[in-house]
Amino acid sequence: MNQIDHLGIAVRSLAEARKFYEKLGLEVMPEETVEAEKVRLAMVPIGESRLELLEPTSPDSPIGKFLAKRGEGLHHVALHISDLAGTVERLKSSGTRLVSDEIKIGAGGHLYIFVHPSSAGGVLLELVEDAPVGV
Ligand code: ZN
Repeated sequence: MNQIDHLGIAVRSLAEARKFYEKLGLEVMPEETVEAEKVRLAMVPIGESRLELLEPTSPDSPIGKFLAKRGEGLHHVALHISDLAGTVERLKSSGTRLVSDEIKIGAGGHLYIFVHPSSAGGVLLELVEDAPVGV
């Protein structure tokens, strides 16, 4: 199903962000660390979508650099795509700039890749697909 999977929000402190979203009456899920991206994150389910709160574990991470340059705020929009491999092939063959060459495996085994803002109207776009069945 194609839908907005989540909105990624860069925060300086997950603990502070958690307090804020809990004040809104929302449930903040337990934190997890993604070593490859040098980030700790916590998901906030909202309807069929989620907010993804992102705190850097290192200043030289993508989120650390974003915070230094732009401060806290909306970092990326993630679209859930049903045929990620086919979509990436179409993007590559039409010259779309991707942040990485390959689709990566994220937390929970889901697949993801980022489209560079220069190819997506100034928005850092994450494309995600569920983990393949049986993996
Ligand atoms: Zn994300």
